[in-house]
Amino acid sequence: MIKNPKLAKPIADASWGEFTRQLEYKAKWAGRVYIEIDRFLPSSKRCHCCGFVSESMLLDVCSWICLECERKHDRDVNAACNIKAAGLAVLAFGD
Ligand SMILES: [Zn+2]
Repeated sequence: MIKNPKLAKPIADASWGEFTRQLEYKAKWAGRVYIEIDRFLPSSKRCHCCGFVSESMLLDVCSWICLECERKHDRDVNAACNIKAAGLAVLAFGD
């Protein structure tokens, strides 16, 4: 995302590395598991129901309909489902 000119400055301003470091620290402190997933996972473009991956999706798209299973997805909720599934897969099977 840092290569995206529209997102680069906000992400750099938020100090993404510091954010993830704090998240890992807080997770350990609370007795939770911290897992990093593949940064190139198409979390918002992959349908969490059937696995279909949309070829392209503009950043201003907030909801979309899967061309395969025809379900309507909220982009953020769909991404959260995919990220959770990826984290659970790393827990179960490793990297
Ligand atoms: Zn689908």
